[in-house]
Amino acid sequence: MRRKLVVGNWKMNGSKASNAALLSGISAGVTGAQAACAVCAPAPYLAQCEAALAGGALAWGAQDVSAHAGGAYTGEVSAAMLADFACSYVIVGHSERRAYHAETSELVAQKAVAALVAGLTPIVCVGETLAEREAGQTAAVVSGQLGAVLALLGDADIARIVLAYEPVWAIGTGKTATPAMAQEVHAQLRAQLKQKNEVAAVTVQILYGGSMKPDNASELMAQPDIDGGLIGGAALKAADFLAIVNAAN
Ligand code: 13P
Repeated sequence: MRRKLVVGNWKMNGSKASNAALLSGISAGVTGAQAACAVCAPAPYLAQCEAALAGGALAWGAQDVSAHAGGAYTGEVSAAMLADFACSYVIVGHSERRAYHAETSELVAQKAVAALVAGLTPIVCVGETLAEREAGQTAAVVSGQLGAVLALLGDADIARIVLAYEPVWAIGTGKTATPAMAQEVHAQLRAQLKQKNEVAAVTVQILYGGSMKPDNASELMAQPDIDGGLIGGAALKAADFLAIVNAAN
């Protein structure tokens, strides 16, 4: 059985003071949780995460990483730097980065490789826009996004990633994919993994993201191919995040 994984994506939110309260609220509540859990904080706060969370049950990670190993890339943060702050995870290919920073699936794939080289687990995000869904292109879009990553990874590395299906139209909108809609895409993604590596296809966690909240988390995560959540808005309140972690137990 795959262990459930619940990850908070804080996006560009927080301050030292608000993070301290959120981290202590969440970490106090996750001790003994069956699901694995993590928070992905803005890069300047990763030192704060390490200081607050080291040795506990709540892991931490970043929201983006450079595809480059180091050098003259002003403003970029390398995977080795994230590892230096004991990050376990890094999100790559979030739709906000694809949309606002013109990240291509090829660049996302390079970022996933950079993360793996540094020993981090990349959380690779895929998902269609509303226009793409309405045009019947969901399957083609997500399979293209995943395909670019699979093309660059060695077969053995496929077991070391986490996937996240985040329909763009469900992010921050309060509109959630129905459990059946999400399950259909998750099953398709798993079938695509299987073509490359049958063993990895069984073990890779596929998270759902997009307006996952305490009141819809359990039915989403009850689907056979939904192995947890990537949580935006509801990750900014300890009580809501913990309710989702508990729904994953
Ligand atoms: P919301 O939970 O706010 O819809 O955000 C989802 C998301 O983008 C997580 O990466």
